[in-house]
Amino acid sequence: MKLSVVIPCFNEEQVIDEVYGRLKILLNSYIEKQLIDDYEVIYVDDGSSDGTLSALKRLAASDKQIKAISFSGNFGHQPALTAGLHHAEGDMAVSLDADLQDPPEIIEQMIIRCRAGADIVYGVRQDRKDDTFFKRTTAVAFYKFMTLMGVNIIYNHADYRMLSRPALEAFKTYGEVNRFLRGMFPAMGFKHSVVTYKRERRFAGTTKYPLKKMVSFAVEGITSFTNFPLRLASVLGFINFAAAAVLGLWAIATKLKGGAVPGWASIVLPIYLFGGIQLMFIGILSEYVGKIYMEVKHRPLFIIREKYNFDDDNHGKSP
Ligand code: UDP
Ligand code: MG
Repeated sequence: MKLSVVIPCFNEEQVIDEVYGRLKILLNSYIEKQLIDDYEVIYVDDGSSDGTLSALKRLAASDKQIKAISFSGNFGHQPALTAGLHHAEGDMAVSLDADLQDPPEIIEQMIIRCRAGADIVYGVRQDRKDDTFFKRTTAVAFYKFMTLMGVNIIYNHADYRMLSRPALEAFKTYGEVNRFLRGMFPAMGFKHSVVTYKRERRFAGTTKYPLKKMVSFAVEGITSFTNFPLRLASVLGFINFAAAAVLGLWAIATKLKGGAVPGWASIVLPIYLFGGIQLMFIGILSEYVGKIYMEVKHRPLFIIREKYNFDDDNHGKSP
């Protein structure tokens, strides 16, 4: 049994050594306990502009179990995770953040569950006490909203999860560019299990998910998994139409009764009302059209520039 550990890193030079140290002790102890026979740690450098890559190169040079992939630029968290998982050679692979917010100690439980037959083991946060009020409420609202719209998503699960080899192989067959991994895995089927943990504070450095990225991540999650908003457009459109019809009948009736006051409001208000609704849904529509546009381009999800300690190692030289 070999375990792969996948860690995406974007400007994480301050935490690389600490993660390495903690993982090394843990993973070696798993070998001693005969939970696994071997392991590899795959770091994916997502176009960092600090010393992340040189730190990774240093680790890879001194330790053959450390592998590093370096992107040509910043492609984002989800593509970085994808690249790491695609390169994993283990019988099971676990992904976790570089900042030690997901305590690596629970990997042991994940291995046990995986060996007991679960193909996907989700790491789930016990609570969000340490989050800011803003992050907590927006996150809870997001999960609720996703569930409401029929997207199967595990509450309070981020990207800390373990996959068995069959789940990894299935994952590799997904070619979509718009990726929201938290929605993809539950949709894959497979037997799953959940391990809860307490999320720690970031070990060092700052969050790489500012509000702007969080919002686009949420929109990504919604629009790549459900066309419920589109259906909402037709439903609301129909209700509007019905209301307008009733209003029309009422206008005729008033006219017949002879009590009609030439009205400004009845002409102008609907223009605003329907104008607003139409604009809103053109917005939603364009969200999807934009996605189709990105998908049909079939652009590569990521571009790897350098590889260390892999079979097709290029040590930074052009392939
Ligand atoms: N990350 C990445 N590319 C990005 C943004 C983030 O690879 O464009 C990595 C980052 O290095 C970290 C993980 O994704 O390992 C999660 O990011 P972060 O911890 O900043 O997010 P938060 O925990 O604050 O939501
Ligand atoms: Mg984090």
